[in-house]
Amino acid sequence: MFEGPLTESLMGRAQRAGLIELKIHNLRDWSDDERHQKVDDRPYGGGAGMVLRPEPIFRALKELQGTKKRSDRPWIIFTSPQGEKFTQKMAEKLAKKKRMIVLCGHYEGIDERVMPLIDQEVSIGDFVLTGGELPAMVIIDALARLVPGVVGDPDSVKNESFSTGILDYPHYTRPSHWRGKKVPQALLSGNHKEIEKWRTQAAIRQTKKKRPSLLKEKF
Ligand code: SAM
Repeated sequence: MFEGPLTESLMGRAQRAGLIELKIHNLRDWSDDERHQKVDDRPYGGGAGMVLRPEPIFRALKELQGTKKRSDRPWIIFTSPQGEKFTQKMAEKLAKKKRMIVLCGHYEGIDERVMPLIDQEVSIGDFVLTGGELPAMVIIDALARLVPGVVGDPDSVKNESFSTGILDYPHYTRPSHWRGKKVPQALLSGNHKEIEKWRTQAAIRQTKKKRPSLLKEKF
């Protein structure tokens, strides 16, 4: 599941350039079931689905974490719809961490007894997906673009929606006249002050229209 999104485009280039390092691990490698490398089992109390067993998760996290003291260990995230909602602010905080382990749940989730090993439970939204792989990729992608050098022009990261507390301004490219629609005059003026002013006002208009609650939070 991870190969395409994490090896193509910006993410692929960032890894080849040594700006970020990603390793995908298979929980089965830490299974205590030697015959079938089983990592799941039926839930106690009955009910639908399967649950990821605690021992493979414990072994995997302990080995990947290494023996370093707590402050030097990688930060452990568990992707879960019950977690703290993932936001740009959270991405900015997490991007400062040197190493991170993202544990992906599957089926009904993980055995609750491994939760004390988790530093942060993160949800990508109030909906339920089949597994933590897509949320992990969402988190990794959002963090990677905040690592200096990953996105070519650092200004494009700075001005993006949410980074400023409001939405991004609208973008236009060539041609300046397209099917009866014109690019706003200010953007063609070549006057940086005028362009800046137009963009600030347009970002506010855009936010007012699409996400008015952000304006209330900011001002
Ligand atoms: N039984 C769990 C619950 O209701 O809280 C849902 C389990 S879900 C079917 C399987 C796995 O997908 C979860 O353990 C989690 O890793 C991942 N997942 C699903 N939705 C998610 C979301 N919105 N954010 C982050 N991870 C999610």
